Amino acid sequence: MDILDIDDLHVAYGGIQALRGVSLRIAPGETVMVTGPNGAGKSTLMKALAGLVKPRQGRILMGGRTVIGQPPERIASMGLSMVPEGRHVFGSMSVLENLRVGCGLRRDKQRVEADLEHLLDVFPMLRDRAHAQAGLLSGGQQQMLVIARALMTRPQLLAIDEPSLGLAPKVTDQVYESLLRIQAERELSLLIVEQSSARVVMMGARMVMLRSGRVVLEGRAKDLSPNAIQQAYFGL
Ligand code: ATP
Repeated sequence: MDILDIDDLHVAYGGIQALRGVSLRIAPGETVMVTGPNGAGKSTLMKALAGLVKPRQGRILMGGRTVIGQPPERIASMGLSMVPEGRHVFGSMSVLENLRVGCGLRRDKQRVEADLEHLLDVFPMLRDRAHAQAGLLSGGQQQMLVIARALMTRPQLLAIDEPSLGLAPKVTDQVYESLLRIQAERELSLLIVEQSSARVVMMGARMVMLRSGRVVLEGRAKDLSPNAIQQAYFGL
């Protein structure tokens, strides 16, 4: 069964139609990257998944269970962890404290400590700064921290909105390398919003391109020609 099954999703803000019938599926362990120009509806898709905006029409199932109408914390307990745009760290807390906040209500304390150690292996930059105040980290380190914190809940699906925004390409490489490593080590599905279609091609993942609230192109990056990607992106 798919981890995520979105069908014919419509979302509007008053009179503005942000999503007009979007469908998308993610299999266990699969990575799907959502791309598209500004205002395409990428963040709205993430918000609808997390229960932060209410769709007008359509269906979202996670592991076969209905998401629409559930509060965000219930959706999280169904296996979703969301990293919204903007790197919201707890600035006055240390890196380790931020990570511990991420494990929320988990009672398996020994496994929490093992997961913490594992994530510090996967994100060595965070180990180096473990006791530093999170607000003093670089943008790339903060991005790694919010991703690692989201992983502390052991989600089945990790959704990340624009992880590379404002980061140097080399730092973005490190973020994606860490994501690929953790995915190889856990059964984890990834839904990543990435405005750069070049980065999506580099990752070789399945791409879903949105424009004006619709899916305009979909497929494995290697099967799509650069020309088709460009035309879909600009609506030519
Ligand atoms: P970006 O890359 O710029 O973040 P996006 O693809 O994430 O764009 P959304 O932020 O989902 O796009 O926006 C989709 C459409 O909905 C846009 O036309 C946007 O102006 C509109 N929109 C988004 N949020 C709101 C809101 N809170 N109120 C009204 N309109 C909104």
